[in-house]
Amino acid sequence: MATIIEKLCKIVEKSAVITEKDVMEPYLHDETPGLKGYAEAVVLPSSTDEVSQIMELANRELIAITPRGGGTGLSGGAVPQGGIVLSLEKLNRILDIDVVNSVAVVEPGVITGTLREEAEKLTLFYPPDPASLDSCTIGGNIAEDAGGAQTLKYGTTKNYVLGLEVVLPTGEVIFTGGKLRKNATGYELMHIFIGSEGTLGVVTKAILKLIPAPKYRVDLLIPFTEFENLSRTVLDILHKHGILPAALEFMESKAIKASEQHTGEKLPFPEAKALLLVELDGNDSDLLAKQYEVIGEAALNNDAIDVLVAEDERRRADLWRARRVISEALKSTGEVAHEDVVVPRGEIPGLLKYIEQLESTHGLPIAVYGHIGDGNLHVNILKHDIPDDVWQQRLPALVHALYSKVVSVGGKISGEHGIGLAKRQYLSMSVSPEEITLMRNMKKMLDPNNILNPGKVL
Ligand SMILES: Cc1cc2nc3c(=O)[nH]c(=O)nc-3n(C[C@H](O)[C@H](O)[C@H](O)COP(=O)(O)OP(=O)(O)OC[C@H]3O[C@@H](n4cnc5c(N)ncnc54)[C@H](O)[C@@H]3O)c2cc1C
Repeated sequence: MATIIEKLCKIVEKSAVITEKDVMEPYLHDETPGLKGYAEAVVLPSSTDEVSQIMELANRELIAITPRGGGTGLSGGAVPQGGIVLSLEKLNRILDIDVVNSVAVVEPGVITGTLREEAEKLTLFYPPDPASLDSCTIGGNIAEDAGGAQTLKYGTTKNYVLGLEVVLPTGEVIFTGGKLRKNATGYELMHIFIGSEGTLGVVTKAILKLIPAPKYRVDLLIPFTEFENLSRTVLDILHKHGILPAALEFMESKAIKASEQHTGEKLPFPEAKALLLVELDGNDSDLLAKQYEVIGEAALNNDAIDVLVAEDERRRADLWRARRVISEALKSTGEVAHEDVVVPRGEIPGLLKYIEQLESTHGLPIAVYGHIGDGNLHVNILKHDIPDDVWQQRLPALVHALYSKVVSVGGKISGEHGIGLAKRQYLSMSVSPEEITLMRNMKKMLDPNNILNPGKVL
């Protein structure tokens, strides 16, 4: 390995190769509870050419490379299993915001929230908004096809990628797509890399679609004493009343309590079993007012306790902070198994009922929150003070039962966090053998020596 480190130091400057154990430590895990990896070195390239030379070297010397963005992943994709961590943190420039073509040209290490802020200064909008947006990167978002609260109206990251520069595992650099709203010229190669969890290529540049920023936003916080009434309200808003909010988020009481303890701030309606957070956006404030009247009425018709309307910026920010810290807050309560299931929206009432049954039949507390409008729920199984042997015996049975239910209603085991290391053993429950064979063949074609993020996904 010493000679590899020497060669790396010839590709990047010496200070961009880390081998000290304590300095490497933060690069050995992501935000997935309980996962930690190991590596021989961390390298921080500053250009596409350096990434390309590193990949060539790794391919020649058969060294595993684990790409890394912000390290906020929740399936272990950036957790190294030996070899070298390739951190893209120095490739963090917004190269251009092209207003005429409404696109941003960015390096992969740009923090998602920073791009949103810079676009907004020009009255443009980059919609993908993972709750981790203050620390996750565009490269990681592309690799995971990240979603977020506003996926309901605006779609996931893939809907905003127009062009990609990618370094292949063998070191060649390709550029696919462009500043184009459409492109039917040959196979759409770009989409092979989006959602490939850093296993097929390293994204070194991206052209991202921007859209006009909505002028007005209003949020509603609606408390319920029954999941069923909340689910019915979600379906009524979307289907009976034909309103498409920017976000429809679900928070169940254990998730709310954890959030309150974490922020030290109480949310209203302590008697609620669950809260529905609705965001409406648009350019017509009168229309938004009409829409929230309709939504409020629909909620009260479904026995909501009350409806709170938050129009001012501070109140809205408080509500979203409470929602965004839930993942971190639950982790701070002790060991957590974090699931990210997605079902067709119409199946949500049945799934919520099933999760309540799982909690009592398996005797493990479950905190649920997530993007209910997308049919995507984050199901967190909490260990609390349950003895290790009981936890280890009950947890796999509960997870298996949850996945079986999800698959039986046409769902998938991950909606947005990916398979990575954490869910790899369950992939075949959710994807057919034929699809897995095709995935393996694609991996073999692009990465014949299996050096790019080996052991992830497949
Ligand atoms: C509090 C919290 C809230 C979250 N909320 C959401 C949410 O609402 N929606 C959502 O979708 N996710 C969410 N996540 C998960 C996570 O933030 C996303 O998966 C995000 O896209 C990861 O980005 P990252 O830069 O941190 O990537 P990392 O964790 O560093 O890496 C993720 C994967 O991307 C690969 N990768 C990174 N950069 C590149 C690159 N340049 N080229 C190729 N591969 C690369 C890595 O190898 C790895 O497989 C949340 C996580 C946390 C901790």
